[in-house]
Amino acid sequence: MRSQRTQNRIPFSEPQHLHVEGSARQASNFGKHVLNRSKLENYLNQNACKALDRCIRKNISISNELADQIASAMKAWAISLGATHYTHWFQPLSGATAEKQDSFFDLDFKGNLIEKFEGVQLVQQQPDVSFAPSGGARNTFEGRGYTLWDPTSPPFIYDDALCIPTLFVSFTGESLDYKTPLLKSLKVLDEAATEVCKYFDKNVAKVQATLGWEQEFFLIDASIALTRPDLILTGRTLLGHAPAKGKHLGKHYFGAIPNRVLTFLKDLEQACFHLGIPIKTRHNELAPSQFELTPVFEEANLSIDHNSLLMDLMSKLATKHHFMVIFHEKPFANINGSGKHNNWSLATNTGLNLLSPSKTPMGNLQFLTFFINTIAAVLKHEALVSAATISASNDLRLGSNEAPPSFISIFIGKELTKVLEELENVSKGKLSPQEKTDLKLNVIGKIPEILLDNTDQTRTSPIAFTGNKFEYRAVGANTHCAKPITVLNSAVAEQLLDFKETVDVLVNEKNMKKDDAIFNVLRDMIKHIKNILNEGDEKSTKKTEKKASKHNQRSVPDLLSAYTSDSSIALFEKLEIFTQKELLERYAIDLNDYVQTLQIESRALGDIARNHIIPTSIKYQNIIIENIRGLKEIYGDQFKTFGQEQLTILEEISAHITEINKSVNAMIGAREKSADWEDVYKKALVYSKEIMPFLEQIRTHCDALELTIDDEIWPLAKYRELLFIR
Ligand code: ADP
Ligand code: MG
Repeated sequence: MRSQRTQNRIPFSEPQHLHVEGSARQASNFGKHVLNRSKLENYLNQNACKALDRCIRKNISISNELADQIASAMKAWAISLGATHYTHWFQPLSGATAEKQDSFFDLDFKGNLIEKFEGVQLVQQQPDVSFAPSGGARNTFEGRGYTLWDPTSPPFIYDDALCIPTLFVSFTGESLDYKTPLLKSLKVLDEAATEVCKYFDKNVAKVQATLGWEQEFFLIDASIALTRPDLILTGRTLLGHAPAKGKHLGKHYFGAIPNRVLTFLKDLEQACFHLGIPIKTRHNELAPSQFELTPVFEEANLSIDHNSLLMDLMSKLATKHHFMVIFHEKPFANINGSGKHNNWSLATNTGLNLLSPSKTPMGNLQFLTFFINTIAAVLKHEALVSAATISASNDLRLGSNEAPPSFISIFIGKELTKVLEELENVSKGKLSPQEKTDLKLNVIGKIPEILLDNTDQTRTSPIAFTGNKFEYRAVGANTHCAKPITVLNSAVAEQLLDFKETVDVLVNEKNMKKDDAIFNVLRDMIKHIKNILNEGDEKSTKKTEKKASKHNQRSVPDLLSAYTSDSSIALFEKLEIFTQKELLERYAIDLNDYVQTLQIESRALGDIARNHIIPTSIKYQNIIIENIRGLKEIYGDQFKTFGQEQLTILEEISAHITEINKSVNAMIGAREKSADWEDVYKKALVYSKEIMPFLEQIRTHCDALELTIDDEIWPLAKYRELLFIR
């Protein structure tokens, strides 16, 4: 029998249409709601198309006249598909997507209805999002943030609105979103990588970062989830005892997807298909009710837009299917959390994956150049790379239940470790012809073309080289991909610029041959990068443990401060991606986000403990007291023989109530103390060091009570009810 707390829930829809209608997945429907370059040609004359291409290629602004022509083309296409509204679609630092829709509908001077969308509306808007987080870049009353069209990401129709991907910047030019710095980082990375590619192939004119994310999430029956105030308010459970069955027996992982979930996924995939989001893989994940969706990789900016759009779509469609979708990185204690592995690589306009081993020795020297430089870049900015994935929620996931730790190490596999060891022994200066031949034939010539099987079995390194790409696994399910990818792009761009400069000095001033110079520079780098490699062997494990103990002493607010370290400021200012002011603002936003997250959690748990758990416990105590009274009546002096256990339970419940009440009071006291701090860093420290431990303590006592109190009167849905979809 269902207990009272879940009885009244709305019955979920039966899985009716398990097959997607024939036409839905036809190839011609892929991207039906996206205005890509070739479709634009049907609405825009050839000269205008060419002019647009030139502006994108050369990164120059678009004339008013051209903007009018493009706007008119977009409007015609959108209306032909039934769109009635348009909106600038952008990604403020709240992590969610934002929009403000306007109708195409307007009136002319005679009061007649017209459809209007012109260049000015396409290029720039001033949405009223004065409360979007800005870390002080502008005053809220000013509301002066502008959205600016990003012509590199195609417009799409979502529901009945034409969505135009845009940047979001302040009146004074500071970036207020994730996209602006991402695009800047992609540009500098392109320039730096293209120059290095020219050592190997003069025809390379452009290098793009590529990205394929693996989005994990939980799906919970909405009517059960909605009985949990903690899930509604914080996206995670603040209490709840582990279920008798967790991921044991492994039947869920890669098992058959439950029918109800499959119906939802098919609906979702159909919407993705129309929006050109190339979802390829769906499967169950490790924890019960946990799943993963993975697309085919794309150019990074587009892939990131697609991830944001997918998360938004999922939340909307989940409601339709009576599910709550959870992207929180650790919604359930002691059960695997959700990540979003970011698979990253570099591709040239000539069709080459620069992180893919090649058939030829020269091709492999190019591969090693990019491979080693990427590792060196991560090593140089280790703390920043880690900070890009840290948040209040991901902090709960990292380092536990098979999730990677939050400090950075890289796994590269046996084969490549061996190659690096041999390269390290290359002699200094010019190489003898014999040595060079030997190297080319026996070392780099022997790198197998396919290293894909050579991956980290434990899957817990924060970053792993997985055959033809780096997989950045520390990234959390709820993290905006642009955050870690901007850091990675920037660090690698800086490293490639340094590399090129060093090689050029050897070639131009020391008269070395190009490949000698490259070998020499790589050899020196290998000595250095070993510090960040972790192959799970005894030596690197020891090193890692040492690093872990140092790292784990640092609080989230301290780890986040890597954004404002000297090396981060120098990196971003040199590459003109962030000014120091912008970095300080972003750090302030991250700290604020941390404080607010913990503040809401602390308030929510205090309320649940006081308003749900304590009253229920007292109710149960009264039942026991009634029972004891009856036993006394019947057994008199002999009562203790039969009623001792009841007395013990009564006392245990009282002890838990006392502890909960004391901790809630102390936690409120700590919150009041934190309110005295003007400085958000100091406030964040109070939350991290004083308030977090209370959350743990209160939870422990509540969870113990869950195991003691009568199931019939326990007020919150239990893990076993939340986690097993029927
Ligand atoms: P898993 O890590 O689960 O074994 P896969 O190796 O199949 O998964 O791929 C994970 C993701 O990596 C997919 O999104 C895939 O498209 C992406 N990927 C593959 N090659 C590249 C690449 N060159 N650049 C970026 N992402 C890539
Ligand atoms: Mg993976």
